[in-house]
Amino acid sequence: MYNDPFLQSAGTSATVPTLGHLINGKLVAGGSRSQDVFNPATGKAEKRVLLADAVTMEQAIASAQAAYPAWRATPPLKRARVMSKLKQLLEENADQICALVTAEHGKVLADALGELQRGIENVEYASYAPELLKGEHSKNAGPSVDSWSEFQALGVTAGITPFNFPVMVPLWMWPMAVVCGNCFILKPSERDPSSALLVAQLALAAGLPPGVLNVVNGDKEAVDILLTDKRVAAVSFVGSTPIAEYVYATGCAHGKRVQALGGAKNHAVVMPDADIPNAVNAMMGAAYGSCGERCMAVPLIVAVGDKTADAMIAGLKVEIAKMKVGPGTDASNDMGPLVTKPHFEKVKGYVEQGIKEGAKLVVDGRHVKVPGHEGGYFLGPCLFDNVKPGMVTYQEEIFGPVLGVVRVKTLQEAMAMIDAHEYGNGTCIFTRDGEAARFFTDNILVGMVGVNVPLPVPVAYHSFGGWKRSLFGDLSAYGPDAVRFYTKRKTITQRWPSAGVRDGTVFSFPSSR
Ligand code: NAD
Repeated sequence: MYNDPFLQSAGTSATVPTLGHLINGKLVAGGSRSQDVFNPATGKAEKRVLLADAVTMEQAIASAQAAYPAWRATPPLKRARVMSKLKQLLEENADQICALVTAEHGKVLADALGELQRGIENVEYASYAPELLKGEHSKNAGPSVDSWSEFQALGVTAGITPFNFPVMVPLWMWPMAVVCGNCFILKPSERDPSSALLVAQLALAAGLPPGVLNVVNGDKEAVDILLTDKRVAAVSFVGSTPIAEYVYATGCAHGKRVQALGGAKNHAVVMPDADIPNAVNAMMGAAYGSCGERCMAVPLIVAVGDKTADAMIAGLKVEIAKMKVGPGTDASNDMGPLVTKPHFEKVKGYVEQGIKEGAKLVVDGRHVKVPGHEGGYFLGPCLFDNVKPGMVTYQEEIFGPVLGVVRVKTLQEAMAMIDAHEYGNGTCIFTRDGEAARFFTDNILVGMVGVNVPLPVPVAYHSFGGWKRSLFGDLSAYGPDAVRFYTKRKTITQRWPSAGVRDGTVFSFPSSR
C-alpha cells in the first residue's frame, strides 16, 4: 500500500472510511453534507464522501491561485519531469488504484486496468510538454522584424468528471492543464471518488507542488461555484448531455472557456460482406464491456440486410450464453454490476420500455442471479431485435448492458439514421469493402469513427471528441487540442533597429507592400 485516500489516515475521527478533499497538498474534511459511497457488487454503503461547501471551495480556489505564480514560472521541462515520475508511480500502484475503482464503480479489474493504462498514456503525452509548448516563430516578418506566438497558461482551471471512468477521465484533463503551467481543481464523481484522490496523492509524491492540483468532492453546489467564480479561467466537463449543456451555458455566461463532453448513442453498421464472427466478437465487448457504461459503448447494431441481422443475432446469442456476470474482483467474470441502485432500476426500466414499444427481446438479462451477491446491482446482457428510430430505446442513452439491432436495407439508410441522431460521439462500420468504408468515414456526422474497430477511442496523442450534442465547445479533450484549450496564444512582434537608424513617421497600416 502506498497510501490511502481516506481521512482516517489524516488523523480525523470518522467511523467509516470517509473521503474528503485534497487541498494545498493535504487530505482535509470540509462541508457539512455527505453521502454514502456504495459497493455495487454488494449493495452495501461501505464509505462516505463529504460534499464541499462554499468554504471548502474557497480554500481550493485560493490554494490554486496562490500556487499559480511559482508553477507558471517553473520551466516546462521540470513540470514534465513530474509527469514522468507520476507515470512510474501509477504503474507501481496499479493494483491499489484498480481495486478502488472496482470497489466503487463495479467494473471488472481487467477493465479498470485498461482505463488506468489509457490514463497513463495521457500522463505520458503530458510529459512531452516542452515540445508541445514550443510555439511558432517567424524571422524577418518585416525588415528586421521577428514575430512569434507563444502559448501561455490561463491560471486556475477546473475539471468536472463522470462516474464511469474515475481514473482515466481526470487524467485526460489535469496532467495537460498543469504541464501547460496552470493550477487545477478537480471535482470527481461523488459516486466513485476514491481513485482520483489516490492519484492526486501520487502526483504530490511525484513532485507536484501543493496547490497545483486540488481535488474537491461534491455535487452541484461545488460545480456551480467553479462555473461562476471569477478566478476560474476555464472548465473541462465530461458527463451526461443535459449537465454538459448546463455547464457550457453557465460557464460561458461567466466568461470562462468551456469544453463540455456529453452523452452518446453509438451505432455499429454491419455490412452484408462483413466478417460476421469477428463483428460478433467485437460487438460483445463494445456492448457489454464495463456493463455498457462507456460513452464509446456501442448499444446499437445497424444491420444492412435481414441476412446480416439474423447472422449477427445468432452469433451474439451463442457468445452471450458464455458470458459470466459477477463481482469485478473475480477475474473469471466478464461483466460486473451497474454503478448504483437507481441506475440499475433505470436501465431495467428501459428494457421494459423496449418491450412495450414493440422491440423483440431476444435475450433477457433481467433475472440474473449472483450467489452471495444478492444485494448487488447485477443485470445480465440484454439483446433486442427490431429496434426502430423513434423508440425511446433507440433514441436515449441507456448506459447499461442493452444491445439493440436495427434492420435496414442499404448503407445510405443506415447513415441517414445515424446522422439524424442527436448524438455524434462514436460510430463504426464492419465491412471488407474499402469503398464503402471510405464513403462512411468521409461523410458520417460523427466525431470518432472506426472501420472494423468497434471502440475508436483516439490514442493520447490525438484528441477525443464527439459531434452534435456529444460535445459543447470547439476543442476536444486531451492530445493536441488540450494544449490549445489550456493555453492562450500571445503573439509578439519585435524589432531591434540598428543603432543610428532613424524611423520615419508612417501613417498607413503596417504591411509588407
Ligand atoms: P453526470 O452528468 O450525472 O455527472 C457528471 C458530473 O457532473 C459529476 O461530477 C456530477 O457530480 C456533476 N453533476 C451532476 N449533476 C449536476 C448538476 N445538476 N449540476 C452540476 N453538476 C452536476 O454523468 P455521470 O452519470 O457521472 O456519467 C455518465 C455520463 O457521462 C453518460 O452520459 C456518458 O455518456 C457521459 N460520458 C461522456 C464521455 C465523453 O467523452 N463524451 C465520457 C465519459 C462519460
